[in-house]
Amino acid sequence: MATNYVTCPNCQSSNPGNFTTCTNCGTMLPFNQGPMQPMGGQNRPLPGADKKLAAGLCGILLGGLGIHKFILGYQQEGIIYLGMFGAALIISIITCGIGSILFLVPSVMGLIEGIIYLTKSDEEFVQTYIVNKKPWF
Ligand SMILES: [Zn+2]
Repeated sequence: MATNYVTCPNCQSSNPGNFTTCTNCGTMLPFNQGPMQPMGGQNRPLPGADKKLAAGLCGILLGGLGIHKFILGYQQEGIIYLGMFGAALIISIITCGIGSILFLVPSVMGLIEGIIYLTKSDEEFVQTYIVNKKPWF
């Protein structure tokens, strides 16, 4: 297993992987592709797809703060989340905690959005939220 070998398509003899022509018959050898090399570019990274997991988890865990919106570059929507969170905080202080039920509004919205992000494929996610910039859900 120390050296990769390439089999000659002409005479079937094994040649060291770094050789470009067969040592036996001189035929051009096929390009030696290592086992870890992606075939046909199917592992090509999709720009923006790396944000899916981060935005999804932040939506689920910290939904009320709108962090997932800032991750996606939606400043305005993130500020609306923070506004809802702040309003819920003020109302819950004024009402001695009764208004704390309002925290559920941004939290549940963030939770739902986070789940939607995570259930989309990378292609759908990038198309919807990076390319088309869909602001809500
Ligand atoms: Zn050969």
